[in-house]
Amino acid sequence: MKKPTIVAIDDEIDFIDMLENYFKLRGYKIDIASSATQGLELINNKKPDIVILDLKMPGINGEELLGLLKSKRPKTKVIFVSAFDDAGKTKIRLLNAGAYAYLDKPLSSLRELKKVIDKACKKR
Ligand SMILES: [Mg+2]
Repeated sequence: MKKPTIVAIDDEIDFIDMLENYFKLRGYKIDIASSATQGLELINNKKPDIVILDLKMPGINGEELLGLLKSKRPKTKVIFVSAFDDAGKTKIRLLNAGAYAYLDKPLSSLRELKKVIDKACKKR
């Protein structure tokens, strides 16, 4: 299996730094951005298979970005990782809007996220 290309967007810098280290060590191509605007630019340049996305960010939020992505690059799989919790309402809305998965932050392990990514790419 060809390793997927990833763009990770989150305003929590420590988190995307950690993702970058983890996935680079394992041979994935990953680029990170701390805002949706920066992330969109990366997405246009890198054409990633996977976008790891935060929900709550200043400026354009994750839900708005999902909408943009689904119209521009419908094959890109969007995986939300967010601490936001409203009894699952937002999660269901995002999945209905085309998100591939929604994981709760903090993640129990990065391996959990890796598994979701590998599964998403098998189905291509
Ligand atoms: Mg955030």
